[in-house]
Amino acid sequence: MSNEIISYLEMCQREGTSLQKGMNFQLNDDHSVILMSVRANAPYQDRIEDDGMTLIYEGHDEPRSAKNSNPKSVDQPEFTSSGKLTENGKFHRAAQAHKLQGVAPEPIRVYEKLRAGIWSYNGLFHLVDSWTQFEDGRKVFKFKLVAIDDHSISINSRIENSERTRVIPTHVKLEVWKRDKGRCVTCGATDELHFDHIIPYSKGGTSLKAENIQLLCARHNLEKRDKLV
Ligand SMILES: [Zn+2]
Repeated sequence: MSNEIISYLEMCQREGTSLQKGMNFQLNDDHSVILMSVRANAPYQDRIEDDGMTLIYEGHDEPRSAKNSNPKSVDQPEFTSSGKLTENGKFHRAAQAHKLQGVAPEPIRVYEKLRAGIWSYNGLFHLVDSWTQFEDGRKVFKFKLVAIDDHSISINSRIENSERTRVIPTHVKLEVWKRDKGRCVTCGATDELHFDHIIPYSKGGTSLKAENIQLLCARHNLEKRDKLV
């Protein structure tokens, strides 16, 4: 479920591997995994568009090495030195195949680092476009991801009532986490937490203000959802 808060370990268990890299193309048979961070000191300029449905994800730099001590000074690579596609290259090919040839878009699970050891599942996205652009005199990759309404996939009849996926901006999540002290506001539980819209998005509630977001445990989140439907 999107807007769920999980530990690093839970995230790795869920994906069946120890996640080290930010970009993981076809990590599993049916999806890729991207780790993002929009914190002030984050190494890449990932961006959530205002509508909360679109992510612009930046490609990754060459690894630091003896030959290249400043990866930010050279183009982001599409190929490795041995001529294989990098993760930039793999995601770029998949995005272009979708855009130009109508191949089904690659599904991507997006996790976001909120603070050390604490991650938020931002939901399932489709990779719909990619391009390169020049920034500070070098080439960087950009990937466009669009949120999928995860409820509409499983429960078609409830589309109108279900809350559409909206990414809550990082600064709002951090503010809510601090205000609610990392606990469910109803019962004080500290595990299986979610960021909950107090007034649902479908009823006009905003994702952009901490006043409309609260921490709820899985049980109280579901209880509230059932009442609304
Ligand atoms: Zn609770």
